[in-house]
Amino acid sequence: MDLGIADDDLASCVACGLCLPHCPTYRVTGEEALSPRGRVAGMRQVQWEGRAADDSFVHSMETCVQCRGCETACPSGVPFGRLIEPTRATLAEGLPAPAPGGRGSGARRRPPLALRAGLRALGHHRLVLAGSTALALGQRVRLVPFALVRRFGLPTRLPLRRPRLRASGSDVWLFTGCVMDAWMRDVHADVLRVVEATGAGVALPGRDGACCGALALHAGLASEARARAQRTMAALPGDAPILVDAAGCGAALRDYGHLLGTEEARAFSARVLEVHEWLADHMDVLRAAAARAAPGERAPTRTERTVVAVQDPCHLRHVQRSHLAVRTVLSPFAAVVELDDEGLCCGAGGAYAAVQPDLAGAIRSRKVAAIERSGAPVVASANPGCALHLAAAGVTVVHPCTIVARALDSADAPARR
Ligand code: SF4
Ligand code: SF4
Repeated sequence: MDLGIADDDLASCVACGLCLPHCPTYRVTGEEALSPRGRVAGMRQVQWEGRAADDSFVHSMETCVQCRGCETACPSGVPFGRLIEPTRATLAEGLPAPAPGGRGSGARRRPPLALRAGLRALGHHRLVLAGSTALALGQRVRLVPFALVRRFGLPTRLPLRRPRLRASGSDVWLFTGCVMDAWMRDVHADVLRVVEATGAGVALPGRDGACCGALALHAGLASEARARAQRTMAALPGDAPILVDAAGCGAALRDYGHLLGTEEARAFSARVLEVHEWLADHMDVLRAAAARAAPGERAPTRTERTVVAVQDPCHLRHVQRSHLAVRTVLSPFAAVVELDDEGLCCGAGGAYAAVQPDLAGAIRSRKVAAIERSGAPVVASANPGCALHLAAAGVTVVHPCTIVARALDSADAPARR
């Protein structure tokens, strides 16, 4: 069966096993089939040797968090994302139903109906906002069972009101997304505060630019993801850089060139920057802005700054490879401490925490233990999925730009007195 993987990519694994310690599903299960090497072997059997895509193959593929930790660890340069994405898309969209009596069924290999309906709804931003407000109201009057909140990794207190975002110019775009705009718009407000402190004017996309398609692609719904990509590109025209404050969305926007395979998409992807990457190039202006806001004030020493542990979202560290910029941006404003787990995934993975709750919980426990060992009271994470997943385990998580915005505001306060 053709899984849609390029043969050269599939052949590139030499089965050395050096990626195994970097794979979260292998770390928590110890199962070869749930390791990168085991998954590549399974793909080869199906694509090259005529093995049926049976339940054990489907399980091996569906339990992959798609964190791509194996990609950065692999000395042979195996492009694991180029292997797992077409495999998941074939399973979700292109697999014919098996013969009657065969193991599994065509429907079983597709993402669950509720997940597909939820992902489709993300393309309608007004619906997302209205649904979020209805859920928030339900939470206030205790109509939303806590088990439901836990099962789907929802925030325990969704916002009833969201700050109004105002465009301030056209130097850069800020991509605002779907779920993040509904649940965490205050983070966008903090990002606007920080970017504007550098003197840049920020443009905002309309409703059509709301959902990038990352979650659909993660679930294997490649056609849906391509349609979202076309809409997003149309909503962010021109040449201005596109800043993204959610690591998963940033990785998706940067991959439109590959997803759509057009010159226009490649040019669009080249304009996309993770917001900390852009800010890291404007640190002199940002520091000067903080100093201007509090003239004569001594900058806080390292021991006076908030101690913050940085959690690297996989789509920042392993896919966009821009995680060091977060440290550059945070360092003048917080005492940054590192986790000792070499960037191992937290288990959030798009909708992974909802569809694989046991594995996601076991992977998260390792991350929470690393956070506890760090001794930091606060964790900075630049991805809403990771932030929600960790917050559900009782961790205090904020976006890195929120820490910078608070520091700018507290520097501003004495200047206003
Ligand atoms: S994916 Fe890379 S690191 Fe892992 S077994 Fe294959 S060649 Fe080795
Ligand atoms: S993408 Fe992540 S979960 Fe999947 S095989 Fe690679 S390291 Fe393991």
